[in-house]
Amino acid sequence: MNVDLVVVGSGFFGLTVAERCAAELGLRVLVLERRDHIGGNAYSEDEPETGIEIHRYGAHLFHTSNERVWEYANRFTRFTGYQHRVYTTFKDRVYPLPINLGTICAYFGRSFTPDEARALIAEQAAEIAPGREPRNLEEKAVSLIGRPLYEAFIRGYTAKQWQTDPLDLPAEVITRLPVRYTFDNRYFSDAHEGLPVDGYTAWLERMADHPNIEVRLGADYFDLRDDLAGRVPVVYTGPLDRYFDYAEGDLGWRTLDFETEVRETGDFQGTAVMNYADEDVPYTRIHEFRHFHPERRYYPDDRTVIMREFSRSAERGDEPYYPVNTADDRARLLRYRELARREDGVLFGGRLGTYQYLDMHMAIASALGMVDNRLRPHFTQGERLTSGGVDR
Ligand code: FAD
Ligand code: UDP
Repeated sequence: MNVDLVVVGSGFFGLTVAERCAAELGLRVLVLERRDHIGGNAYSEDEPETGIEIHRYGAHLFHTSNERVWEYANRFTRFTGYQHRVYTTFKDRVYPLPINLGTICAYFGRSFTPDEARALIAEQAAEIAPGREPRNLEEKAVSLIGRPLYEAFIRGYTAKQWQTDPLDLPAEVITRLPVRYTFDNRYFSDAHEGLPVDGYTAWLERMADHPNIEVRLGADYFDLRDDLAGRVPVVYTGPLDRYFDYAEGDLGWRTLDFETEVRETGDFQGTAVMNYADEDVPYTRIHEFRHFHPERRYYPDDRTVIMREFSRSAERGDEPYYPVNTADDRARLLRYRELARREDGVLFGGRLGTYQYLDMHMAIASALGMVDNRLRPHFTQGERLTSGGVDR
């Protein structure tokens, strides 16, 4: 096989590695992709009846404060000015997210100044003594927003999303969401945000469009491993446990089931994402894709595409979406990292290969780091391609 590097997986991690190695290092790169399309979970396609762009593996919003990633992404696509905002329905009323002054005023049914709201939440969070390290998601959330808002907006949603008691979930999960004592309800606080003007797939295809890159779709690495083993360096972005034939047991993942529907209306819910906080509503949220691209005048005005999202634990064979990261998972992960360190000529990267929730900008940043710190030294100075194995 006439290639210098094999990349397993064509998600943002794999394509960034392939693109940099081809364009900057002049290497011939073979990308193997198990699915019948490139792009990993960021892949999007036009819904055939309406022409509305839908994200097959769940809605993807691009945002970053990393200037290097922003500059890199802009080589392949322009971005719209889209700013993500999310609302939540609880007991038949709608509130803005993330929790902000607007949410607090609406929930308690009166107006508060920022100082008054802080004082109220401090009182409602007093059960977690200030300075005490919260031990789990529930304690962390109560310490941030007080018990009443936690019970309304977080407990039911989190239980549906993780199928795990919030007392057993790590505190970090909730720190992804900011809490603001202003009326600012932008979901993300990053310096840059937007959606690719021509869609995700056009962006991903441009990354792969280089004469030194061959992408082979429908190609599972494990069908070819015996032919490749030891002969060509590999960057592997598939599931870490699968690589080692689950020798240390399965790492826990949460998967999502999506129900997509075309509705006979020009606007189903008036916004891109509506969360459902009530525990007796079986789905966590509804996405309405037309609202991601208000600038696309060609979308029909009498039909719309919605997608309900349901969450559950993943079995083998399901799409692994979110690492659950229980204490058992973390112990297993350490053992897998040790195995990965001993694997000569193979680097592990990306969401599945490192068992980490990575946003797109983080996957790109991590891939650029792998090129700088491992692949370039290997290909230009002959450094061994190993150790540290799992690139985080
Ligand atoms: P992936 O995109 O998962 O790509 C891995 C690829 O490897 C896949 O295409 C897979 O088919 C392939 N593969 C696996 N095993 C093999 C094998 N044996 N042989 C060949 N190919 C193989 N990020 C954001 O920034 N904003 C968001 O709003 C956002 N929303 C998300 C919503 C959901 C539901 C999910 C799951 C993720 C979301 N993300 C979001 C994260 C984003 O999807 C990831 O950051 C990005 O996809 C990471 O890329 P990756 O290359 O690591 O992994
Ligand atoms: N969350 C919640 N209620 C909401 C939105 C989020 O309780 O309406 C919690 C939930 O535990 C979730 C976490 O905040 O896992 C992070 O939310 P985010 O929107 O980042 O989740 P994602 O989009 O990654 O699924």
